[in-house]
Amino acid sequence: MCGGGLLRRRISGVTVMAEAGQNALLGLNRREVTALVDRWREPSYRASQLLEAVYRQRIGSIEQISTLPQQLRSKLVELGFAVGLPRTEKRFVSGDGTVRYLMEFADGQSVETVWMPEGDGGEAGDGSEAGDSACAELSPARAHSTASARSRQAHEGGRPYPLGGRGWDRATICVSSQVGCAVDCQFCLTALLGVKRNLTAGEIVGQVCAVLNDQKVLPPQDRINLVFMGMGEPFLNYDNFMKAVRLLVEEVGVAESRMTVSTAGIVPRIHDFGEEPVRPKLAISLNASNDAARTQLMPLNRKWDLEKLIAAAREFPLRNRERITFEYVLLNGMNDSVENAREVSDLLRGMRAKVNLIALNPGPGIQFSTPAEERVAAFQEVLMKAGIPAFVRRPRGRDIFAACGQLKRTVEIATAPIR
Ligand code: SAH
Repeated sequence: MCGGGLLRRRISGVTVMAEAGQNALLGLNRREVTALVDRWREPSYRASQLLEAVYRQRIGSIEQISTLPQQLRSKLVELGFAVGLPRTEKRFVSGDGTVRYLMEFADGQSVETVWMPEGDGGEAGDGSEAGDSACAELSPARAHSTASARSRQAHEGGRPYPLGGRGWDRATICVSSQVGCAVDCQFCLTALLGVKRNLTAGEIVGQVCAVLNDQKVLPPQDRINLVFMGMGEPFLNYDNFMKAVRLLVEEVGVAESRMTVSTAGIVPRIHDFGEEPVRPKLAISLNASNDAARTQLMPLNRKWDLEKLIAAAREFPLRNRERITFEYVLLNGMNDSVENAREVSDLLRGMRAKVNLIALNPGPGIQFSTPAEERVAAFQEVLMKAGIPAFVRRPRGRDIFAACGQLKRTVEIATAPIR
């Protein structure tokens, strides 16, 4: 039992979650808020006050927005408005500091959002600041000792895990874009749910706001990375996802260079994404080295096969020093041979790319097993020798089912919630 009735009203002393039927302020951009303020016949500076309260201060309820006159607060509530932060239904803490949140929205649907105090390397990728530091940590042998030395320092410093940008700049929030997922990748637990619905822009931004509040992180001073790699396929909820990105950049204050979106390979949206004036970095889930294997693992490969996918990646307009990240889940005996690694090198030759290798995070109902470390290392070596930077992504929060491909809604997994 989780005492939901009490939590529904107060988390960290603030009221959360729009009740069903209420209009959420979260998700509205400056133009939309300005239009509302005009309609209410309020002075235009009220728009800035509202945006500041919702996105920068992340206040949980309209009643608590003290910059607004009491009369206006009451009027907004009467009109059926609410801030619309999701309610944290459960919170699981891993031995490695990762926190998995089950976030509930106004209609009772829920998704998972993950806080990784030291990142997992998924945020790395393009030679940007965030990428460089995380890449260094992820490099083989040499960097490994540096990582553990730093990790020791953090622990010896009396603070078990670093917070936000205070001393570290790798803290990462993994954000969901849909309730469930329609893509049906055979190694992913989220796929077992099917897709229930798209998240609104406000629900995507709301996950970030709720975690920032809980972890007491204050962007832009505190640096934070965002990876859109949680539940769902962001490019099948493209407009809401992109609106959320713009709100996070313009209103919350997270730099686009600190965001990465991962797609299973929705080719037409990769083209659209390349044309966006403001956009995160791009990661593509490759996961197989030839069409036969990829179609077996990811049925969407029938529609958008490797030729189309790789062509879209090659055409993708990269910024200065940017690279595309290819994620590759290694499945024992399925796609993890040295021959598979050679095929990947052929696919990516000459591209400004890097590969993140992820040894399978196992889960109930998943038919594959995790390869031994030597197989992962041998795969990595083939890529490196072909001149393709390849990194092994550290699993984060496996003990609480928070790692890649393990997000499936806490309620269905028997682990004890911790508050
Ligand atoms: N739908 C998007 C984003 C979510 S998945 C996408 O497919 O890219 C984020 C990453 O986790 C993907 O690269 C996916 O291949 C990987 N992943 C999925 N299931 C996994 C598992 N069981 N173990 C390890 N990685 C997994």
